[in-house]
Amino acid sequence: MAATPSDSMLALQALTPEALAARIPGLSSAHARKIVSAVHRDLPIGEATFTIRRSVIEAILASTTVPTLECVEEQKSAIDSFVKYGFRTHDGHVIETVRIPLEKKGRFTVCVSSQVGCALACTFCATGRMGLTRNLESWEILEQVRHVRRSLNGGAEKAGHVYGHGHVYGGDAGRVHGVVFQGMGEPMANIERVLEAIFVMGDPSAMAIDMRAITVCTSGIPTGIRRLAREAPKVRLALSLSSARPDVRKSLMPIARAHSLEEIIDASVEHARITGLAPMWAVTLLNGQNDSEEDARALGELVRGFVEKSGKSPRISVIPYNAIAPQDDPYSRTTEEREARFRETLRDSGVHTRKRYSGGGDVDGACGQLAAAQRESLPAPVATT
Ligand code: SF4
Repeated sequence: MAATPSDSMLALQALTPEALAARIPGLSSAHARKIVSAVHRDLPIGEATFTIRRSVIEAILASTTVPTLECVEEQKSAIDSFVKYGFRTHDGHVIETVRIPLEKKGRFTVCVSSQVGCALACTFCATGRMGLTRNLESWEILEQVRHVRRSLNGGAEKAGHVYGHGHVYGGDAGRVHGVVFQGMGEPMANIERVLEAIFVMGDPSAMAIDMRAITVCTSGIPTGIRRLAREAPKVRLALSLSSARPDVRKSLMPIARAHSLEEIIDASVEHARITGLAPMWAVTLLNGQNDSEEDARALGELVRGFVEKSGKSPRISVIPYNAIAPQDDPYSRTTEEREARFRETLRDSGVHTRKRYSGGGDVDGACGQLAAAQRESLPAPVATT
């Protein structure tokens, strides 16, 4: 049974050492790091912190809690080591998380949800059909990663890990290398909580995930893209493009009526200039909708313009469509022939696409249309141990 949160209590797993020290009178930064380290290793606070005054420990215990999500579904791919999880929140909603294997054996990226449902109503997305129920709290985002990490570790940290420094993570079964915000919800619409979660993920005393292995995927909200660049400049940006033709994009993604492609590209150029990072652009090919040679030529044109302005080449990921509804699905996957022509036309424009990876297709259908793209598009794993 999941532990429930409380309005008057702080979620301890969502605090960086600085945030914790600022809230607990008498707690030094060094001791705050030890507490945070213990929390993220599932150790009892009292056990490993004997140098901290009892009154300070009591103040922490009196004002904080470590709420959890209830895992109600774990669907393992028969094809490879993709796993889709369903987590029930304390108010009865179910959110989805996907564990994505990276090319390097034993390393995984966790695709997390940032909202219950989504208001953006992209026509090819199952979550878009649900509407928005609420934003997730930062601890709810973090719990998705913590659960996957525990499952890889067999439920506990291995003996011999460096207590208090947080550089050693993962067991023989694998380790969480990165996180991608590409599950349910538009992360830029919940940017406050998403940033809070990112800071805890990247903190060396907390989850110690390399910030360069964290990717935020947006359907195109310029203010969020700019804020991400300023406040988390090591974090990567992915853009769900769908089409480089404005009218086609508007027909697939209603948000495109509020923010033009030009605005989104300007914000992305600014992101690339500030961070020095090339974005990933994802295109889910839908038969007869956005897979023509004209679509490919428009994409080639958009890439050229972006390279001229930013000096960076976006990594283009062309990914297969996973059906969102068995009965009344308005779309179908593009044919092999049309996809080949699309790639060829792009190549003629000087744009190279990544090889499609279709693993995990049996588990990531409902949301995370783009989850498969992560395996091929994330940068090569960076060793952090
Ligand atoms: S694709 Fe993303 S932004 Fe669009 S409706 Fe689905 S969850 Fe929301």
